[in-house]
Amino acid sequence: METVNKDCVLTDNVTIRDGELWFSEQSTLLLAKKYGTPLYLMDEGRIRRNCREYKEALDEFYGNGAEAIYAGKACCFKAIYRIINEEGLGADLVSCGEIHTAKLAQFPLENAYFQGNNKTDWDIEYAIDAGVGYFVCDNVEEVDAISEIAGKKGVTQKILLRLTPGIDPHTYDEVATGKVDSKFGTAIETGQAEEIASYTLTKPNIKLSGFHCHVGSMVFDSDTFVRSAEIMLGFCKLMNEKYGYVTEILDLGGGYGVRYVESQPVISIRDNIREVSEFIKSECEKLGIALPSLRLEPGRSIVADAGMTLYTVGTVKKITGYKNYASIDGGMTDNPRYALYHSAYTVLTANKASEENTLKCDLVGRCCESGDIIQPDVMFPESITRGDTVAVLTTGAYNYSMASNYNRIARPPVVMVDGKNDYLAVRRESLDDLTACDL
Ligand SMILES: *Cc1c(COP(=O)(O)O)cnc(C)c1O
Repeated sequence: METVNKDCVLTDNVTIRDGELWFSEQSTLLLAKKYGTPLYLMDEGRIRRNCREYKEALDEFYGNGAEAIYAGKACCFKAIYRIINEEGLGADLVSCGEIHTAKLAQFPLENAYFQGNNKTDWDIEYAIDAGVGYFVCDNVEEVDAISEIAGKKGVTQKILLRLTPGIDPHTYDEVATGKVDSKFGTAIETGQAEEIASYTLTKPNIKLSGFHCHVGSMVFDSDTFVRSAEIMLGFCKLMNEKYGYVTEILDLGGGYGVRYVESQPVISIRDNIREVSEFIKSECEKLGIALPSLRLEPGRSIVADAGMTLYTVGTVKKITGYKNYASIDGGMTDNPRYALYHSAYTVLTANKASEENTLKCDLVGRCCESGDIIQPDVMFPESITRGDTVAVLTTGAYNYSMASNYNRIARPPVVMVDGKNDYLAVRRESLDDLTACDL
């Protein structure tokens, strides 16, 4: 067990030293000065540690070629794919843009999985040409299109079929994806999964390697993965009995929750992987089917707690008798998660981190939207004022990757921090970048 620094906040890479906020082994104030704000910071050591937690637990408790596949949609740029590859994870990609990014980072695409509920013919061609190892196929139109395009190219494409096990993971509706009526995948309960699977087995130029499901995101219930494994293995058994089909790969998707605020639990990835691994092994024995190789697709839990965003306060508006606002130089363009999901965040004043927090403000951005809120009801020091540096913690997932240019606001840079080193992984967008596509 590692020793816990008693001055750390939320995660052990965030500490307060002499009243200033530090990230990894660096002063956030010096980083803000060096690179400007708004600024995304990513702790490279933490990303690697999170990768290893998955890899080591899968090796130890499952074996049989089990792998973690990083869901790039959580945070996608070249340096991330280099790190993921060095740590021995596969990549879960949802668009040609993500495939292109991974390719430029020399990511071995035979270990990539192409997701998504509506891949165009162009996407399918691009991904086959790029050598993407597996398609995670969502529907029958896609099975037909892959078979046809792979046929024209004279290749056989490996696929997994995305199924919906009919599980409600008790998370936000916006991120629940495994229910029977989901936009994603084919339902087991209605018999349609069997239809598409048996149909796929008859199609040329496609090799059905196994089955995939992903029940949702921000999942804290430890039994969610066990329950979906149970239903998926039942389906594997049915396919084996009726069609003699042996499932090579069982992919249970991603979705482990992370802690954004102190009140949320810390979940042990290791314990969760042990539990699901033991369950799958005993269930396969019980059902008399071969043990498939396991895939998990973590996104958020690899990068979320490796991230922090720094902003500079511009105005503090006090509406006497009503409420207060602290406005910063970023907003929903770099972090749309409160606007989208009312996500909770921990906010600190980086240059006044030890001052008592007595002034309640909504932390808001500078977009022309009243909904441009990073977090409501944040407690700040009474003295908060223009020029102060504000840090929002745990922004490594679904912040940079969801950032937009709304109001023609340039996206912040991403700086990798690793112990005492720091380097620019994504530079700040310039005004000319914003007009680069305008003719
Ligand atoms: C979003 C997604 C993931 C990753 O989910 P996290 O909550 O970020 O771990 C994995 N697989 C699929 C298919 C997804 O859509």
